[in-house]
Amino acid sequence: RYDGPRAAEILRKRSEYLSPSMFYFYKKPLNIVDGKMQYLFDQDGRRYLDAFAGIATVCCGHCHPDVVDAVVRQTSHLQHSTVVYLNHAIADFAEALASKLPGDLKVVFFTNSGTEANELALLITRLYTGCHDIVSVRNAYHGNAAGTMGTTAQYNWKFNVMQSGVHHAMNPDPYRGAFGSDGEKYARDVQEIIEFGTSGQVAGFISESIQGVGGVVELAPGYLPAVYESIRKAGGLCIADEVQSGFARTGSHFWGFEAHGIVPDIVTMAKGIGNGIPLGAVVTTPEIAQVLTRRNYFNTFGGNPVCTAGGLAVLRVLEKENLQHNALLVGSYLKGRLKALQQKHEIIGDVRGRGMMLGVELVTDRKQKTPARTEISHAMDQMKDMGVLVGKGGFYGNVFRITPPLCFTKEDADFFTEVMDIALSKL
Ligand code: PMP
Repeated sequence: RYDGPRAAEILRKRSEYLSPSMFYFYKKPLNIVDGKMQYLFDQDGRRYLDAFAGIATVCCGHCHPDVVDAVVRQTSHLQHSTVVYLNHAIADFAEALASKLPGDLKVVFFTNSGTEANELALLITRLYTGCHDIVSVRNAYHGNAAGTMGTTAQYNWKFNVMQSGVHHAMNPDPYRGAFGSDGEKYARDVQEIIEFGTSGQVAGFISESIQGVGGVVELAPGYLPAVYESIRKAGGLCIADEVQSGFARTGSHFWGFEAHGIVPDIVTMAKGIGNGIPLGAVVTTPEIAQVLTRRNYFNTFGGNPVCTAGGLAVLRVLEKENLQHNALLVGSYLKGRLKALQQKHEIIGDVRGRGMMLGVELVTDRKQKTPARTEISHAMDQMKDMGVLVGKGGFYGNVFRITPPLCFTKEDADFFTEVMDIALSKL
């Protein structure tokens, strides 16, 4: 039983003492007090199936006992900054993490968030190349600090406050993009940005493997290999932002970029890496990592013992419970059921994604692709009342984002689909 502060009191404090820019998904925001695997519980003990997992943050399941145990155990031994002392936790986790990456990607820098990881990755590209220009993709989200805000291209959500030294390329969006699924045509745009908008040399390119905040947009096939070739010819480094698509979420692969048949120069990660604890990382090659000896990068809490002990536990759980395989099986099953739902509901314009990173885009007119913004908010509220939590995103805010913890079962997928079916029928 929960006998702490109720929703109304928290709302009052939040509006008085917290940032006025914080937003809610629901008309009546929930007061969530407990989490257990794929479930969340509110102040009245009501259970919700969590199909959003805090924006793809929880991968093993809420409060997974192995992760909790690792964090608690390490907290009772030592928690401090690892900048100037030795401690095994950071080294053990770096070694385990490196073993999950292809090629020569084996040097890890730890941070506290995805934003910090991407900021550091951008800095590395600029130090390594001596160039300033970065190419990123429209509709991307990479973070909210000075550099990453520039690479983020989400005007509609008011994320872009600052823009400097960044060129935004056409989004290779198979559903809304001008060239449909022809990845190589979109990649021409990057080549032309290099030719017409820069000195011919660039620092680098950054892209998610599947856009998350942007509405679970899978990049058109053939896009990334062609872009990587252009960028490398212009002397730049390629960054894969795996903050949402990493850590087995896409099911077919451990990292989202692997489905595109490319190997990045730098990989950034956060969210799933710690199953909810503040942790991020940048992984690159020994040769590229060497540039940071010129600058002496340090980060007080990045790689602290508690977070890295948690991170190591996450990797072990993913393996022990075969969660990548589950993401593939249950994710494909769920996608199939959602595709069937599309046959029934005219409002579903597109169903897309991989594994447990799925998107359902709502439109009021399938030909015009008119975003169904009010309808999605309405449906989300209905689903919440039936015990299912789901996210939303996309440039127009009309895409359901389905990113559950990877322990989601087939029964959960059935329940989720049935609830969405009822909510859409009621619109
Ligand atoms: N990259 C991607 C792909 C993200 O989705 C996010 C967060 N939504 C970030 C970077 C930034 O991560 P953080 O919020 O941990 O700073």
